[in-house]
Amino acid sequence: MATVSRVKELYAGKAKSVYTTQDPNRLILHFRNDTSAFDGEKIEQLERKGMVNNRFNAFIMERLEAAGIPTQHDHLLSQEESVVKALDMIPVECVVRNIATGSLVKRLGVPDGMDLSPPTFEFFLKNDALHDPMINDYHILTFGWASGEEIETMKRLTFQVNGVLTALFRDAKMLLVDYKLEFGRYQGELVLGDEFTPDGCRLWDSDTRNKLDKDRFRQGLGGVVEAYEEVAHRLGVDLDSPL
Ligand code: 5GP
Repeated sequence: MATVSRVKELYAGKAKSVYTTQDPNRLILHFRNDTSAFDGEKIEQLERKGMVNNRFNAFIMERLEAAGIPTQHDHLLSQEESVVKALDMIPVECVVRNIATGSLVKRLGVPDGMDLSPPTFEFFLKNDALHDPMINDYHILTFGWASGEEIETMKRLTFQVNGVLTALFRDAKMLLVDYKLEFGRYQGELVLGDEFTPDGCRLWDSDTRNKLDKDRFRQGLGGVVEAYEEVAHRLGVDLDSPL
């Protein structure tokens, strides 16, 4: 494998930074310890979080690839960095919900914790200044954020991810409540980008329904990284294995 290293910072998000490399088709994602909520209003440094999320994301992306879902992930570079394909990102968030909670409950007044059958799907515009407003297919088409075919592919792949991951988490005694995915274009193909970590999904213990995800940070419950490590441990992600 050719060595890849950081050339220039392309973008610094709230929890990750993206760097160009010598290879125009590859970027480096740096998972930082920064943890943010409420569109960046609450920010804290949580020791080990960057490493745990980097390792966790690689594990999940490899599982999804193995199930036939194309992902951006290429390989782990260091404890906090991964090499990924350089995607042309679509500025839209795809959310699937298996259990009602969070913004769905606030918006629609449905009971918190209600099982959703079938699971529901929502699009949001990725725009912090506007607080990521909910949008529909027509907004995406009208404003040219993605084509009709890309919209259908994003829905299909997001539900395919649900099939793979609900089973994976169920076997590890966790409920995949909801999650957010982002997609991008790579050499004519739509590919799962960004990350899949407890920062962008909700995971509850199957028996107690204790929260094992970023809601612990949002709600000031403490034990955030400990919960992420517990999730990793239950799935069999080895956080200490050599790269
Ligand atoms: P809600 O719409 O209930 O706030 O979030 C639904 C799901 O999508 C949750 O799992 C949440 O973590 C994830 N999600 C939605 N928007 C974002 C976002 O901008 N950043 C992150 N990290 N996760 C998000």
